[in-house]
Amino acid sequence: MTTVGVGDFISAESHIVCGVCDLCRTGNGHICRNTRIIGVDRDGCWADYIAIPATNAWVNPPEMPVDFAVLQENLGNAVHTAFAADLRAKKVLVTGCGPVGLMTIAVAKAIGARSIYATDISAYRLNIAQRVGADIICNARTDNVSEVIREATRGEGVDVLLEMSGAPAAIRQGFDLLKYGGSAALLGLPNAPFEFDLANLVIFKGATIYGIIGRRLWETWYQMRGLLRSQAIDLKPIVTHHYALDEFEKAVSTMASGESGKVVMRP
Ligand SMILES: [Zn+2]
Repeated sequence: MTTVGVGDFISAESHIVCGVCDLCRTGNGHICRNTRIIGVDRDGCWADYIAIPATNAWVNPPEMPVDFAVLQENLGNAVHTAFAADLRAKKVLVTGCGPVGLMTIAVAKAIGARSIYATDISAYRLNIAQRVGADIICNARTDNVSEVIREATRGEGVDVLLEMSGAPAAIRQGFDLLKYGGSAALLGLPNAPFEFDLANLVIFKGATIYGIIGRRLWETWYQMRGLLRSQAIDLKPIVTHHYALDEFEKAVSTMASGESGKVVMRP
C-alpha cells in the first residue's frame, strides 16, 4: 500500500529510517539507529531528480506555494523544537535567528507564547525575527543581552530557552537567563565540545533539557500541516532569496553571509 501517486506534489522527509529497530518500533523513528539522511548518507536533492522511498514522500495540497513546500523539513525542526516544552503563556528566549530559528519564533507565537525574546549577531535576521513575532530583539554583538532580557522579565529570566545557534556563548547565556525550573530545547549544533557549567546552569536550577533531532515521524508533519492550513504561521518574510539550481555557489554564499533568511533554489 502507498499513499503517494504519480504526479503528486510532495515534500520529502530527509531521514530514511529502518522501521524495524527498537526505536522505530516504539514510536521514536526520529532517532532510528539506522537512519540514512538524504544529502548526507546518500545522494542529495540538488538535482533535477532524486529517488526516495515512497514512505518518505509527504503529499502536499496542489495549491501550496513551492516556497513553503520546500522548507517544510526546516519548519519541521522548528515545530519539533517549539512543541518540545509547553510554551503557552510563557516567556521564551530564542537564541539564533537563522531560518530555523525564525520559523521557531513564528511557531512559538502561533502556539501561544506570551513574550518572545530573540538574539542573533545579524541585524538583517533580527529584523525578520521582529516581523515574524519576536517582541524584543537583541544583537549579541552590540547589545547587553543579559541586561535587556533581565529587565524585560523583571529580573526573573525566561521560562523556556529554545537554542538554535549552537554557539557556546549563546548556549551559556541562554541557560544563565533561564528561570529555576525552566525548560530548554536544544537544536543548534556546536562545532566542537566546549566547557559548560552544568552544576549551576542546569542541576541547581532544576532545569529540563530536550535534545531536538529531525522531526518526530510523523507527528511533527501533522502538526506542521495544521499550522500551515490554518494559516497560523506566515513564512513569507522568512524566504528572502531565490536562485536557479546552477547558481548554487551564489546561493551558498548568500546563506553564509548572514544577510538572508531562507534561500530557495529551483531546478
Ligand atoms: Zn529504525
